[in-house]
Amino acid sequence: MMNIGVCVSLPKTPIASSFENITKMGFHHCQLMSWDRSLRTPEKAEEIKAACLAQDVTVTALWCGWSGPAAWNFYEGQETLGLVPPAYRFERMQDLMNGADFAKELGVTDIVSHMGFIPENPHDPLYPGVVAAVRAVAAHLQQNGQYLLFETGQETPVTLLRLFEDVAMPNLGVNLDPANLILYGKGNPVDALDVFGKYVRGVHGKDGNYPTNGRELGAETPMGQGKVDFPALLKKLAALGYDGSITIEREIEGDQQAADILTARELLLSIINKL
Ligand code: MG
Repeated sequence: MMNIGVCVSLPKTPIASSFENITKMGFHHCQLMSWDRSLRTPEKAEEIKAACLAQDVTVTALWCGWSGPAAWNFYEGQETLGLVPPAYRFERMQDLMNGADFAKELGVTDIVSHMGFIPENPHDPLYPGVVAAVRAVAAHLQQNGQYLLFETGQETPVTLLRLFEDVAMPNLGVNLDPANLILYGKGNPVDALDVFGKYVRGVHGKDGNYPTNGRELGAETPMGQGKVDFPALLKKLAALGYDGSITIEREIEGDQQAADILTARELLLSIINKL
């Protein structure tokens, strides 16, 4: 049966207080968001493992960020995000492998990241380099017994499927962020399951609207106020046999974030209970 989790940023300070916050809200599953490579130490891993045990929290995936610039739009995004821009590719491959090794210490098998605007055109000169880079990172993770999960959004579902076929590694997966497919205007997340459904190993609970101009993403919304059809999405995920987490992600801060996360949890619970 699916469970409901939430995103937790890997803090400099002890993670126990983050876990206290989420368990008070009713969560026992989380994805750990890790951008700062300097925090990925053996001591931190021990601290997290102890907190998981003490507070009954399961880390379902490490969301692994990478170094260098990032512009979350359709213009500079093409030239800055993920493994696509050659200028940052090698360092980011190392960032991902570093995150994977840290996750291994935690006993976490799923590593998630944004890989960038994967070229839709397989003849694009950038495409072979992306294929080779993903294959190399996936090979490292395979030695760790781990999966490399692609956070959806920056490419169409069929582009992602083609990349998986071309990389041809057995440990590739999808972290389906249904809102991202809409915010980037790349697809309907429910229909996307027809394309890559069997690869889904993680799901974000996030909602939003389509872009209204050609340069900027659409706007994220509280769950239930955007274009994601969560009842249809969860029904289809259940039919595919998905029984992992729906990890709530609300990319704002403060009291409103906590309120929206709780509302999202209620909404998801009511859907899951009817499956
Ligand atoms: Mg997401």
